[in-house]
Amino acid sequence: MPHRHSLTELAAMLRAREISAVELLDHFLARIEAAGELNAFITVDAEGARAQARAADDMLAGDDPPPLAGVPIAHKDIFCTRGLKTSCGSRILDNFIAPYDATVVERLAAAGAVTLGKTNMDEFAMGSSNETSWYGPVKNPWDAARVPGGSSGGSAAAVAARLVPGATGTDTGGSIRQPAAFCALTGLKPSYGRVSRYGIVAFASSLDQAGPLAQSAADAALLLDAMAGFDSRDSTSLENQLPPTRASLEDGLRGLRIGLPKEFFDAGVDATVAAAVEAAVAALCKLGATTVEVSLPNMAAGIPCYYVIAPAEASSNLARFDGVRYGYRCDDPVDLADLYERSRAEGFGAEVKRRIMIGTYALSSGYYDAYYLKAQKIRRLIASDFDTAFEQCDIVLGPTTPTTAFALGEKTDDPVSMYLNDIYTNTVNLAGLPGVSLPVGFDAAGLPIGMQLIGPYLGEARLLNVAHRYQGVTDYHRQLPGMFA
Ligand code: GLN
Repeated sequence: MPHRHSLTELAAMLRAREISAVELLDHFLARIEAAGELNAFITVDAEGARAQARAADDMLAGDDPPPLAGVPIAHKDIFCTRGLKTSCGSRILDNFIAPYDATVVERLAAAGAVTLGKTNMDEFAMGSSNETSWYGPVKNPWDAARVPGGSSGGSAAAVAARLVPGATGTDTGGSIRQPAAFCALTGLKPSYGRVSRYGIVAFASSLDQAGPLAQSAADAALLLDAMAGFDSRDSTSLENQLPPTRASLEDGLRGLRIGLPKEFFDAGVDATVAAAVEAAVAALCKLGATTVEVSLPNMAAGIPCYYVIAPAEASSNLARFDGVRYGYRCDDPVDLADLYERSRAEGFGAEVKRRIMIGTYALSSGYYDAYYLKAQKIRRLIASDFDTAFEQCDIVLGPTTPTTAFALGEKTDDPVSMYLNDIYTNTVNLAGLPGVSLPVGFDAAGLPIGMQLIGPYLGEARLLNVAHRYQGVTDYHRQLPGMFA
């Protein structure tokens, strides 16, 4: 049963020629076929993937195959993939075939990975439940009546149900970490600038980062090392050459100082979630870590600050979808204004329109200083809070989300309660820091609980090291939802 193996194990089995890339691909394609009701995929490219798998088998037969040779992966449908539909979960891009590959796609392919398809997502990555997709909601493999989280919900559901051993996602305010928490995965949001944004449909450019949704920290490290690195086509890409994160996975935790922000453990967090996180902290202390209480006093301002900055950037980024150059165009426009208005009115969904309106308002003259500029100042304070915390500790730790996965439809009529899902995650994006979510238990209903580790800028290697050592003494990350075992 190849799907019971982690991505790291599968990569090794391929190298040892215990299984071929084509066999492995066929196994996962059959699982995708059988799991259609999850709605995890927008596009499955069986034919293209088979050609890539055959090429991978050729590489595996030769000397020194690349690290991910023959490993099937899926990309969130926000990454441009040459010759393949890139919808971003929106009707407005339903007919868009990307003419080029995103850097992340290109790099994973160069590492030998086989792109098996594109996963469902909230429209333009706006959401926390995967319910805003034009292609319909994704279901959580742990309980089909619940959401998988969002906006990378298709990638999370696909990996959780082992329809694919690993996938990519993007995280603007929590969209890798929150679905990872809801689906018992290890999901990493890298430091801003570590992974190229070239070829990723832009939502909020100063916050967006791509990262892996994986079964374990070791798998996430393998994927991150292939994805990351300088790219001259992204002006915010970092020029530093950093050692591979997988080199330090086994480092000891003796002396590690864990900062526990008191704001992460107040009344807002569900008691079961808090208890699981506290148990995980105890496990880390057994491995040699110590704890210290820290404070992130401006955390409560994170949601309002994010919901000014992200919509402002989105309103500007989404101006390019005008029905003229590519994407959806309305029928029989009477003039240019009608073409713009109806193409956008018919092409965008309700949440995207809400964001465009909020963002346009916040940027309009007269309101710019009161909202956008103010939010930028608060963003600086939030980043300073983390700087202060990191004077006392090496990593900051807390729950990833206040609760476990909620029911489909539960929050769709209440955007503010939906937005509050990201209360522990979006300050990390505002500060440009790395964060990883990993599974630390299950609630009474059997739903996964996630814990978040936040590092200083470029602290990914340490985060993955801590997560990996924790996973060495626990097996939450190895549990599979019953129906997909
Ligand atoms: N849930 C947040 C939002 O709706 C974050 C989304 C994301 O990280 N892409 O904007």
